[in-house]
Amino acid sequence: MKSHAQVVVIGGGVVGCSVLYHLAKFGWQEPVLIERSELTSGSTWHAAGGMHTLNGDTNVAQLQQYTIDLYREIEEVSGQSCGLHVTGGVMLAGTDERMDFLRQMRAKDRYMGLESELISVEEAAELFPLMDPAHFKGALYEQTAGHVDPSGVTHAYAKAAREKGATVYRHTMVNELTQAPDGTWHVVTDKGTIQAEHVVNAAGLWARELGRMAGLELPVQAMEHMYLLTGDMPEVAAYNERTGKEVIHATDFEGEIYMRQERGGMLMGTYERAGKPWQTESTPWDFDTELLPPDLDRIAPSLEVGFAHFPAFERAGIKQVINGPFTFSPDGNPLVGPVRGLTNYWCACAVMAGFSQGGGVGLALANWMTHGDPGFDVWGMDVARFGDWARPQYTTAKVRENYSRRFSITYPNEELPAGRPLRTTPIHDRLAARNAVWGASYGLEVANYFAPAGEEPFETPTFRRSNAFGPVGEECRAVRNSVGLFETSLFAKYEVSGPEAAAWLDGLLANRIPRAGRMTLAPMLKPDGGIMGDFTLANLGGDRFLIVGSGAAEDYHMRWFLRHKPAGVTVTAHGQRWTGLALAGPQAREVLAQVTQSDVGAEAFRFLDIRHMDVGMVPALVGRISFTGELGYEIYCRPDFQAALFDTLMAAGEPYGIRLFGGRALNSLRLEKSFGSWASEYRPIYGPEAAGMRPFVKLDKGAFVGRDCARDERTNGPRYRLISLAVDATDADASGDEPIWDGENVVGWVTSGGYGHTAQQSIALGYVQAAVADSKRTDGFGVEILGERRPARRLLEPLVDPTGARMRA
Ligand SMILES: Cc1cc2nc3c(=O)[nH]c(=O)nc-3n(C[C@H](O)[C@H](O)[C@H](O)COP(=O)(O)OP(=O)(O)OC[C@H]3O[C@@H](n4cnc5c(N)ncnc54)[C@H](O)[C@@H]3O)c2cc1C
Repeated sequence: MKSHAQVVVIGGGVVGCSVLYHLAKFGWQEPVLIERSELTSGSTWHAAGGMHTLNGDTNVAQLQQYTIDLYREIEEVSGQSCGLHVTGGVMLAGTDERMDFLRQMRAKDRYMGLESELISVEEAAELFPLMDPAHFKGALYEQTAGHVDPSGVTHAYAKAAREKGATVYRHTMVNELTQAPDGTWHVVTDKGTIQAEHVVNAAGLWARELGRMAGLELPVQAMEHMYLLTGDMPEVAAYNERTGKEVIHATDFEGEIYMRQERGGMLMGTYERAGKPWQTESTPWDFDTELLPPDLDRIAPSLEVGFAHFPAFERAGIKQVINGPFTFSPDGNPLVGPVRGLTNYWCACAVMAGFSQGGGVGLALANWMTHGDPGFDVWGMDVARFGDWARPQYTTAKVRENYSRRFSITYPNEELPAGRPLRTTPIHDRLAARNAVWGASYGLEVANYFAPAGEEPFETPTFRRSNAFGPVGEECRAVRNSVGLFETSLFAKYEVSGPEAAAWLDGLLANRIPRAGRMTLAPMLKPDGGIMGDFTLANLGGDRFLIVGSGAAEDYHMRWFLRHKPAGVTVTAHGQRWTGLALAGPQAREVLAQVTQSDVGAEAFRFLDIRHMDVGMVPALVGRISFTGELGYEIYCRPDFQAALFDTLMAAGEPYGIRLFGGRALNSLRLEKSFGSWASEYRPIYGPEAAGMRPFVKLDKGAFVGRDCARDERTNGPRYRLISLAVDATDADASGDEPIWDGENVVGWVTSGGYGHTAQQSIALGYVQAAVADSKRTDGFGVEILGERRPARRLLEPLVDPTGARMRA
């Protein structure tokens, strides 16, 4: 066994072998893979091998397409067959709502360039004659669906990697992982120790245990999963004979089942409602190429629907049932990337659809390890989207929920209940008493809106306007006309301090460092010029700075800060050690003035000023800024003061008709102002010029990360530009990922949308081809909402307060 390696990949399932192949392809020096048994002996060997491009996250969907396209390449390099069957597939809808869902998927596929087509029940029955058409309304036909041989694929990756210089050690168990002071990893196995510069956790069913060897608690949990094989079916033989082809794949959402041909019969798998977690504490090390006892009772409800919808299955009878475990993260997408605070430790775990996603995961991780960047927008599968708050029991609760909803519709406004409430702020009960309708972000309970008194605080999940429409409208009007109060505790708050802090921030952020007592908007770029963060930066004086950013990206941004900061700078994520409230609206100053002895007059406390002041009895940090576009203040304090701060502001605001508002209203208000937000308009795949951030990118200020690329983007012009559209919508607004049409051409996609309650206008923000944006033409656009092309008008300026006078008042 080697004593040194540039990289050791731990785990020889489909994912580890894909990572190994990509690293070898990218020129890593003799990469090593260690597998404790045979390749595929974890969850890979018994998989059904199905593949498709379906994923709620469009970026992950694109990586699934890459995975499927990769099979031909690895067959060629390795000479090993992947057993590739690209049959095509149908997703069958049994309800009108499901048809809406399919229309949305088709719309997304359209701008991503994925091949799919909405078809009628009759057309679906022609393609998949085992179905009883009476149960269905229509279908989406997907060209690239099919299946592979799991063992063939894994060995093809491994062989192709060996061809490019990789080494695979089988029957070698990693027992310990320790990091030496020089940052190298000691991979201690039962056959010796390898000192490696980098390690990759691709340990699948044991990813959690391997994580623990490095002191990590990764949010990953295995579920039992069953599929059954039928005996030979005359219907299948007849289809094969008639068409000369295999029966295509089919998914029946109502039955939570998927099907494909397997020899002369069919394979039917279920994501049953009563899904069962497997080994919630730790995965036994002696589990090896094993199956679990079948439990037909558990999947009986799905089978009942399946047999009714596909009667031939019942006639054929069940020949064999396979039950095996495989892993999920809390939201069902993989956990990929570097781990905050651990040098050269990489994750490629929780890949629940290894044959759709394994290639994309391997590519993204190898890019990241080689170039310092995944090369795609991988936020949807970045390990950093979960913080250390995602502990095992939370993970199990969420994974269970996710498994049981694998084929369920998740509506854009839907909040899923499992594992909640977990993190709450001190004013949680006060907001609950005012009928807050809760959502969760980064594990924290946040008020989406406040339901009218006497009404159940629950928002009906829907693709259309929900029961929140009325109350959210009132919240928005209160903010525009008088004053509203919003909880900002979710916002990430980083304190940066030390004598070198200013110089470091100046080289990290694209805008100039503000003077003491001032704030500014400060994009953070990657070396390739992509947007890494959109922050508010405040200079607190005395070498102390505050950065406020997206709460959901706290781990993501901390990982970046820690990687780039010099020893003389301290960065602290305050998280919930700083809670916050925001006052916004034309009366906000009056309200604040009632409760502070500081001078908050328009001259004394200007737009973008920040200072410490007592608000009532509460020591607070107050910044004059608001994401609503109104005169407003963000007020931060320690959590033990938050309830007092809340009571103080509510009492002072009472004469002004103060109203609580939640995240839904904030979204509506910022859309009216055409303000972009993190993870929607601002993502690493967009540059600041494309995103309209030019005023905050100071190319002439001296060197900063991404400056050269930002300059190139400005000089040469971006490919796409962010625009705002007023959409002629009736009962459904855009929510993100809808195609934007210009005449008969799709020219872009929506990044976020909703109803602007005070402008009384449906609004969408999105990226369109730069030539289209540059033309400044306003008419002839369309946004495809639920399969219907709605006319849209380009907005050349925000609908509300285009000069920004209100927030500067
Ligand atoms: C019944 C069933 C049907 C499925 N059907 C499909 C399907 O149709 N399509 C699809 O895409 N996916 C399917 N899957 C899921 C698929 O199996 C997984 O996505 C895939 O196997 C994940 O691969 P992996 O490499 O991450 O994990 P694993 O296959 O579990 O591989 C991890 C490897 O790491 C090794 N390892 C762990 N710890 C150590 C250590 N300390 N030292 C050395 N080696 C170690 C293990 O021995 C193992 O071989 C199915 C799963 C099941 C159970």
